[in-house]
Amino acid sequence: MNSVKIRITENEMKNEKTPASQLAFGTKFTDHMFIADYTAGSGWHDHRIVPYQPLTLDPSATILHYGQTVFEGMKAYLSEDGVVRLFRPEQNMKRMNSSCDRLSMPQIDEDFALEALKELLEIDKEWIPTEPGTSLYIRPFMIATEAHLGVSASKTYSFMIIMSPVGSYYKEGIHPVKILVESEYVRAVAGGTGMAKTAGNYASSLKAQEVADREGYSQVLWLDGIERKYIEEVGSMNVFFKIDGEVVTPSLNGSILDGITRKSIIELLKYWGVPVTERKVSMEEIREAYLDGKLDEAFGTGTAAVISPIGELRWKGELFYVNNGETGEISKKLYDTLTGIQHGTIEDPFGWVV
Ligand code: PMP
Repeated sequence: MNSVKIRITENEMKNEKTPASQLAFGTKFTDHMFIADYTAGSGWHDHRIVPYQPLTLDPSATILHYGQTVFEGMKAYLSEDGVVRLFRPEQNMKRMNSSCDRLSMPQIDEDFALEALKELLEIDKEWIPTEPGTSLYIRPFMIATEAHLGVSASKTYSFMIIMSPVGSYYKEGIHPVKILVESEYVRAVAGGTGMAKTAGNYASSLKAQEVADREGYSQVLWLDGIERKYIEEVGSMNVFFKIDGEVVTPSLNGSILDGITRKSIIELLKYWGVPVTERKVSMEEIREAYLDGKLDEAFGTGTAAVISPIGELRWKGELFYVNNGETGEISKKLYDTLTGIQHGTIEDPFGWVV
């Protein structure tokens, strides 16, 4: 896609903006979107920024039947001095390509996709909210568009970027949530698609979430698909524990998503000199740490919440209260530092911000 021109069609009808205090996640979209199409044999073509609009798809399109699709999630932040910041966006484009590889979909030009995103942001800059904790959520995604019911990789695709202003994840400040450990359903297995950001992983997670909702828990803790013994992720976040002074997180095993927040936290903890290890973590180990009074902290990590402290875990009828249901010291420090770097209020020693 290098050195290609993006055709721009301006939206004559500007959408009405919702006040930041009333913004829900992913319900309101900016005036424009980016699209490029792909045809096997000729590659990517027709790069364009157009008014945000519904798509026209053949009812037999591969995406609708076999879920050949991938997506990314990232955020842009606008500070009072008018600077738009992206957090490690090249990592999202890189992960998009590795997801595409797993789903037999074509690669995008990562540098060009980032340039296209910057152009779209320039056009829709006024949509980036500035109130504390707000941001513009960015959703790059690719769908298989070929009209064909055979189970095979599509020969045509569309790559798109849409953007949605989002309010603060924590309207009343960062606070711990209750988590139900899921012992029946699994999110993913090694060799499957767990390490790709693809629709099927999320569709299959909804059933367990239904149970969690019913029982008054905010998310589920996913265990491995073979023994239901080792911890994988929490909801659609990576998960960390602080046990007896050491921070641990499940190692990437083929079924866990390689989160950019996770990666950044590991780098940040190492930079601070806090011991952090990537290894297998079993639920039994968490239980024992809790009973020994050594389960200091637990938290989920991801683009949406950045850090989501865990205050309570329920496993096979037993309840484990983490840090008396309060936000732990490391969780708070990581949250303040990462959000500070993202919003430009704290110096970025790693060169993460673009
Ligand atoms: N795991 C899953 C399944 C996710 O969907 C996400 C959100 N992208 C994460 C982990 C966290 O990844 P990141 O830190 O890159 O947002």
